[in-house]
Amino acid sequence: MSNSNAASTTGSTDAAHVLGAVPTELLIDGKWVPATGDATFSVSDPATGEELAQVADATPEDGRRALDAAVAAQREFAETSPRERYDMLMKAFDLLTERIDDLALLMTLEMGKPLAESRGEITYAAEFFRHFAGEALRIDGGYQTAPAGGARFLVTKQPVGPCLLITPWNFPMAMGTRKIGPAIAAGCTSVVKPAAQTPLSMLALGQILLEAGVPAGVVNIVTCTRAGDVMEPLIRSGKARKLSFTGSTAVGKVLLAQCADNVMRTSMELGGNAPFLVFEDADLDEAVTGAMAAKMRNMGEACTAANRIYVHRSVAEDFAERLAAAMGALQVGPGVADGTQVGPLIDDAGRSKVVELVADATERGARVLTGGEAPEGAGFFYPPTVLLDVPGDARMAREEIFGPVASIIPFDEEEEVIAAANDTPYGLVSYVFTNDLRRALRVAEKIESGMVGLNQGVVSNPAAPFGGIKESGLGREGGSTGIDEFLEVKYIGISV
Ligand code: NAP
Repeated sequence: MSNSNAASTTGSTDAAHVLGAVPTELLIDGKWVPATGDATFSVSDPATGEELAQVADATPEDGRRALDAAVAAQREFAETSPRERYDMLMKAFDLLTERIDDLALLMTLEMGKPLAESRGEITYAAEFFRHFAGEALRIDGGYQTAPAGGARFLVTKQPVGPCLLITPWNFPMAMGTRKIGPAIAAGCTSVVKPAAQTPLSMLALGQILLEAGVPAGVVNIVTCTRAGDVMEPLIRSGKARKLSFTGSTAVGKVLLAQCADNVMRTSMELGGNAPFLVFEDADLDEAVTGAMAAKMRNMGEACTAANRIYVHRSVAEDFAERLAAAMGALQVGPGVADGTQVGPLIDDAGRSKVVELVADATERGARVLTGGEAPEGAGFFYPPTVLLDVPGDARMAREEIFGPVASIIPFDEEEEVIAAANDTPYGLVSYVFTNDLRRALRVAEKIESGMVGLNQGVVSNPAAPFGGIKESGLGREGGSTGIDEFLEVKYIGISV
C-alpha cells in the first residue's frame, strides 16, 4: 500500500512523490499487510509539526505473526550460499545508492536533519550492505589436532537464528542496515522494529530488500506505538535467538532483563556521554573542526556527540571563541531548505530537555558565548550554542544533551582530565586532540571507551568495530567482528 493521505510540508512535488511511494503497512512474510483492526499512527515533520503519513500500528498479535514468519524462513535461509547472500546485499547497496535523492528527502522529512546529512546517512547505511556482503564470503572455521594428539577439532560458524532488531530515530536507516546487513550475511532472519518517530525510512528500506531478492520472511518490519507491548512477548517467546538493540541505556537495561530469562544473545548499542579533550599542544584549528563534527553531526542528536568538551585552561578562551564563531555562523532552518546546516530537534520533549540543561548550566555559572535561546514558532528548532566554564556538577556534564550545545570545561592537568573523562557510567567514544604522540597514546589507553578519535571528530565507519563499554553497551557492530554477533561457534570433536 502506498501512503494515500501524505501531505507535503515543503510544497514541493518531490516531497509528495517520495511520501506517496513509501509503503506504510507492516512487512510480514514478504507482503505488505495492514495492522490488525487497520490501526494506524501519525508520523510528523519536526520542522513544522505537520503530519506526513499514517503508518500501520502493529498489535502484539501482528508482532507474533512477524516472528512466526522469521522462524519459518530461518532454516531455508541458513542454507543459502554465501554468494547468494552477497548478491542480495550488493543489489540492495546498488538500489540504495541509485535512490539516494528520494531516500534522503524522506529521511529529512521525518527526522529533520539537513538534506546533505541525510545523503551522508544513506551512503553510510548502504556501505554496511557492501561491507557485510564481503563478510558473508569470509565466514571461516578451523581444523586442528588436539594438543595431546589423536582427536581433531573442527570449528564452524552457524547463524544464530531468528533475530529481533530494534532501532532508534536519530539514524533511521543506518542503525537498521548496521544490523540487517550482518544478519543477512550470516544467514539470520529477523523482525525489525524501527522507532515510532521515524518508521518511513525503514519501510522504504523494506521495499528495497524485497526488490533486491531477499526471500519472503527473511526481513519482517513491524511499526508500532506500543513498543514494549509488542516486543516483550517476542523476546520472551523463546522463538527468537538474538536481540540487537540500539537506543537509550534505560530501555537497554529493561530489554537485557527480559532477555535474561531465556539467556538470549544480545548486542546493545546504548547511550553515550563522550568526552572531547583538547590539550595545550593541539592544533586549535583542527580541534575546532573536530569539535564541530563531533558536536554538530545530526544536530548533536548522536550517541557519539561530544557531550563534555575539556579544554586546557591556557587555550580554553581562544578555543571557545573560535568554536562560538563557527557554531554561530551555521544556518538553522528546515532540513529541506537550501543552505540549511542545522535542522530541528526531533520533538518537543527533546528540545525541552536541551532548554532545561542550558538553564541548569547557566544557573551554575556557565557563560553563553553564542545561542542559548529557543526561537518562537513552529518546529523544534534550537540554535547552535556554546557554553564556557560549565561546572562539573552541571546536569549536562552527566546526561546526554542530544542537541546542538557545546559544553566547555577548562582543565589544568592530564591526570585530572582523564579522571574527569572517565567519571561517567558511559563509555562509548572519546576524542583526544594533541600533537604529542606519547601523550596521545597514553591518554587513548587510559580513557574508558570502546572507541577513541585521535585528532578526528568522527569515528563511525562500517569497516571499523563500533561499540561501547560500561553502560554504553555490549558487542560491536561493523568491522570484521560485526558478523560474529550473528553467528554461533560450533565445535565438533572428531575421533581419528
Ligand atoms: P529509545 O527510547 O531507547 O528507543 C529506541 C528504540 O527502542 C525505539 O525503536 C523504541 O520504540 C524502542 N523501545 C522503547 N521502549 C521499548 C520497550 N520497552 N521494548 C522494546 N522496544 C522499546 O531511544 P531513542 O530515543 O529512540 O534513541 C536515542 C538513544 O539511542 C540515545 O540514548 C542514543 O545515545 C542512543 N543511540 C545509541 C547508538 C549507539 O550505537 N550506541 C546509536 C544511536 C543512538 P519507540 O520509538 O516506539 O519508543
